[in-house]
Amino acid sequence: MSTINQESLSEEKSLNFLEEIIENDIAQGRTTVYTRFPPEPNGYLHIGHAKSICLNFGLAQKYGGKTNLRFDDTNPVKEDVEYVDSIKEDVHWLGFQWAEEHYASDYFEQLYAWAVELIKKGKAYVDDQNQEEIRQGRGTVTVPGTNSPWRDRSVEENLDLFARMRAGEFADGEKVLRAKIDMAHPNMLMRDPIMYRIIHSEHHRTGNKWCIYPMYDFAHGQSDSIEHITHSICTLEFDVHRPLYDWFIQQLDIYPSHQYEFARLNLTYTMMSKRKLLQLVQDRVVMGWDDPRMPTISGLRRRGYTPESIRMFADKVGVAKRDNVIDLGLLEFCVREDLNKRALRRMAVLDPIKVVITNYPEGKTEMISCINNPEDESAGVRQVPFSREIYIERDDFMEEPPKKYFRLSPGKEVRLRYAYLIRCDEVIKDTEGKVTELRCTYDPQSGGGSSSDGRKVKGVIHWVSVPHAREAEIRLFDRLFLKEDLDNLEEGKTFLDYINPDSLRVVTGYLEPALGEGTPGEKYQFERLGYFCVDKDSTPEKQVFNRTVTLKDSWAKLNAR
Ligand code: ATP
Ligand code: MG
Repeated sequence: MSTINQESLSEEKSLNFLEEIIENDIAQGRTTVYTRFPPEPNGYLHIGHAKSICLNFGLAQKYGGKTNLRFDDTNPVKEDVEYVDSIKEDVHWLGFQWAEEHYASDYFEQLYAWAVELIKKGKAYVDDQNQEEIRQGRGTVTVPGTNSPWRDRSVEENLDLFARMRAGEFADGEKVLRAKIDMAHPNMLMRDPIMYRIIHSEHHRTGNKWCIYPMYDFAHGQSDSIEHITHSICTLEFDVHRPLYDWFIQQLDIYPSHQYEFARLNLTYTMMSKRKLLQLVQDRVVMGWDDPRMPTISGLRRRGYTPESIRMFADKVGVAKRDNVIDLGLLEFCVREDLNKRALRRMAVLDPIKVVITNYPEGKTEMISCINNPEDESAGVRQVPFSREIYIERDDFMEEPPKKYFRLSPGKEVRLRYAYLIRCDEVIKDTEGKVTELRCTYDPQSGGGSSSDGRKVKGVIHWVSVPHAREAEIRLFDRLFLKEDLDNLEEGKTFLDYINPDSLRVVTGYLEPALGEGTPGEKYQFERLGYFCVDKDSTPEKQVFNRTVTLKDSWAKLNAR
């Protein structure tokens, strides 16, 4: 599989295959477009779900239709209201409003009635075989299955047993209800698939009312049909389920919803299975579902992603009929694009060296006008204090600079962003030889950025006044996994063996005072460093910032070397 990145995407937009299907339907007079987003509430939504949300809601919006939010809550063991609430929050945050909110569990009574109907038609039977026997009886892709010894039970007996399954007379696994289709069917899923299993477990909505639960295949299509969903869109691996989807609808003669499959989103360096993400949370590899390194929507939100950037990403990725892998860099590109337009610029120094400007008056503070966002004139300017002592970034100074180094070095000049030109006169080091302070002089005529005699100074660096600086905790994130393709692990390894031990680095940053008052979620560009947002762990005493993304893709640069 090839990886798709920014370069390989064309800007030209043609209809995707689902739009083609819909436009074809419309041309034939089938004008309704009714979609649904059907998460199982067994974890938090991730960027793959975001893709599905944008697709389902996007298609309905484009063609004047509607989209339902339906919780596919048919497995009481793994599901929870915490997940339901987070899912609703995430869909809203992405910018979508569902027409109706439904739960597959609301249809349990109807599904049960339909199961009874199939029993009466001789199309379903109660099987006493255990899981292993059923598995063996199913055969293989090349070997047809064999009929269960219970396959020819009478309708009366099946009705009686199914009612007693519901009444709780049997233990988990003792019996199942199966559709009676064809044990030799070339599609293994059509070999008498299980419709109901016994699970004595409390359900987050129906409590202990039920102890039999419908399987995905018996719940999904019927739920679509109840809601009159016209286009039931799911990921490719469900294409083998489609004949069964259609079979149930035909046998029951109910509203004919149709299933369409598209390629799921895969991202390099990214794990996208709720089950595995849950493991990261439970094993405390991350701080929680909303850890900024998680590919969850809540993690991306906390990291500083905007809904617009995620929608832009979903749009750029498009809709494919074949599996592919998207370069994580594309997601980062989208958030940079969006934040570049809206994030206010601020100055912060994350790895400081102190600079003392020896010819600047002691005790003096002057306010320097700084532009808030060169991309947005309406963002205006702010005043930033400047004084005799400032911090600059450690890597903006080099004692022995290579040829094309235009930042500060002994005897050389550099421009302080929005302020003055300074020249480095003296380098002070500690006993280990580490630079601790630079003594510089400034050109008082160079205020606002231009030198009085027109001499050229190429380098511009950012700075923060020492007495005015606010300290903050800065969380620098890197990708959570070291492996690009987490679907192909080496022999004997699990995904946990590829965790990046340096995915979180915490440093103390020195920020210009305007940054002291941000509320969680506020986003800024720290000039020359990247985009950052205020984290929810901030307190009035101590701000915490997350780095959303660097300004440039440092990984791409590394790889290009
Ligand atoms: P996971 O394996 O991560 O638990 P899932 O498919 O089981 O994912 P569901 O809650 O059942 O999760 O999915 C809800 C919807 O989101 C489904 O329609 C599913 O096809 C879609 N979806 C899930 N993962 C992706 C993905 N990576 N790309 C696109 N759509 C996805
Ligand atoms: Mg699932």
